[in-house]
Amino acid sequence: MLINLSDVLSDQHKTVEETVRLEMEEIRLQSGTYPIISKEPVHVKVEHIRGKELLITAETRLSVMIPCDRCLEDVKREFELNCVKHVDVGLSDAELTEELDESNFIDGYHLDVDKLLFHEILSSWPTKVLCREDCKGLCNVCGQNLNTGSCNCEDTGLDPRMSVVRDLFKNFKEV
Ligand SMILES: [Zn+2]
Ligand SMILES: [Zn+2]
Repeated sequence: MLINLSDVLSDQHKTVEETVRLEMEEIRLQSGTYPIISKEPVHVKVEHIRGKELLITAETRLSVMIPCDRCLEDVKREFELNCVKHVDVGLSDAELTEELDESNFIDGYHLDVDKLLFHEILSSWPTKVLCREDCKGLCNVCGQNLNTGSCNCEDTGLDPRMSVVRDLFKNFKEV
């Protein structure tokens, strides 16, 4: 969704205040694609400061499905976004790109709300996602989700090279 900034940049410097819809349906990152399962309208306000400097605020909430790091079950993560940006649109394109951290949410005289919020989501992306603190994860032999059942695989918490030694011990005991 693009918001026209010409009103706020005109001589009257009218504050632009709009409620818009986030267009993106998923978050695409290098690590994967994560569906947005719910989103609220985005409140955007753009105020004039001086010259061509603008204060942009955007607020919204959304939920994204992210797989648990251990068992890969989907976990719902809520993002509460309160974005505040101070931007000088009088800068050259190159300077502006640098100032906006390459996120390019200003395009000419338009504010790209999706790009602005995508950047915000990225910066609050969780480094670790667990379905629950004590998630048991998957068996790394058969792939069984150990939260929902057990399996008959050997305990692989041990170094596999050790199993040879363990087997030797077993044989000794039997003798
Ligand atoms: Zn889990
Ligand atoms: Zn197993």
